[in-house]
Amino acid sequence: MESIKEQMQGFAIKQALKYVEGNPEENLPKLMALVDRFSPADWYASQRSAVREVIEKKNNWYQLILKLYELSPNVRRAFFQNFLFNASLKGSAIQNEAKEREGCNVPWAILLDPTSACNMHCTGCWAAEYGHLLNLSYEDIDSIIRQGKELGVYMYIYTGGEPLVRKADLIRLCEAHPDCEFLSFTNGTLIDEAFCNEMLRVGNFVPAISLEGFEEANDSRRGEGAFGKVKDAMALLKAHRLPFGISTCYTSRNFEDVTSEAFFDYMVDSGALFAWFFHYMPVGNDAAPELLPAPEQRAEVYRRIRAFRSSKPIFTLDFQNDAEYVGGCIAGGRNYLHINAKGDVEPCVFIHYSNVNIHDCTLLDALKSPIFMAYHDEQPFNGNMLRPCPMLENPECLRRMVKETGAVNTDYQSPESVDHLCDKTTPYAERWKPTADALWNEGRKRA
Ligand code: SF4
Repeated sequence: MESIKEQMQGFAIKQALKYVEGNPEENLPKLMALVDRFSPADWYASQRSAVREVIEKKNNWYQLILKLYELSPNVRRAFFQNFLFNASLKGSAIQNEAKEREGCNVPWAILLDPTSACNMHCTGCWAAEYGHLLNLSYEDIDSIIRQGKELGVYMYIYTGGEPLVRKADLIRLCEAHPDCEFLSFTNGTLIDEAFCNEMLRVGNFVPAISLEGFEEANDSRRGEGAFGKVKDAMALLKAHRLPFGISTCYTSRNFEDVTSEAFFDYMVDSGALFAWFFHYMPVGNDAAPELLPAPEQRAEVYRRIRAFRSSKPIFTLDFQNDAEYVGGCIAGGRNYLHINAKGDVEPCVFIHYSNVNIHDCTLLDALKSPIFMAYHDEQPFNGNMLRPCPMLENPECLRRMVKETGAVNTDYQSPESVDHLCDKTTPYAERWKPTADALWNEGRKRA
């Protein structure tokens, strides 16, 4: 049940959004002036000042906000209500209460794999490890969402496998939980006219399409013709005024391509509203450690993404280099967790070690399981936020946590020991440390 305060907040936000809706360019500054006039001086002072600056300077963030007003109204309403209000304001308050009460991490988002099935076979994809015959049933996912909402979680992100193999169930889940926002990583090949109409109808489903650069770089990893199919999917989404983003994994081979100005412009022109960058992770016995970026390559990625973030109208996250904004590693339920298609509850999509399965325990039990509590007790894993990960930059932490908690590997086809995994990342961590320390100190001096 929503409290009176939440209902009032929800009502005020709805009214404010309705006001902006008619003419965003004219009404946004007016709304901001009203908020400033009637709010206590210290109420979200820094956030208000950031929003004011965006409106006054009409910079790239302002252009991005205006792009939200080009979307279908039903989708925009769901985004504001579910993502901004339910997941971020109301949800965070419930999560904080639950954390305090239960003494464990409580996440902002839950990632889950509806299926391990995929219609593609990309080099280095972790999903390939789970086998191809596993599924979470509609009832499993529905139960996870119901339990999540009790803890204040309104954000659900599908990974896989290719989640859209289960698109009928995913749409049913959007209908069953109209107060949640759903985002799905996808290879984009199953997005068609009929599915666009379904997304428009439910309003709360946003795809994040995988793209690894321009045609040559993308198709060398994802297969011939993949780039063309993504291009078609983006055109279809744009024509239907649907929001979408791009998900990119950068490696030693494609980092120049995916962080070039031309690639940023291509994503913006194609209609993407956000781009999430992931550092290649050498997970699994068949991983390709040579794809790990060299220190100077990762430093270049860090610089370029930051530069484009302040100049291009697209919201970018560079997961391995942006930890400073979220206080380090976000896994282990601190901000998110991952449930694979077999139901194993893992701290992170890249950390395939677990003590529990969601078919045998509650979500709260999983958050209190040994490896989750080890994350809870040890985060952050490093004071240098450019070295946040217990696997990639601090492999001694993951080795110890897995051994001490007795967590088992969840790769059923080819189980990988934590020593095998961390032996691959230890030399990387040693090479990256001096560059990371120099960059981190440079950033602190500028701040
Ligand atoms: S475990 Fe590593 S990859 Fe996963 S969220 Fe933490 S820092 Fe990121």
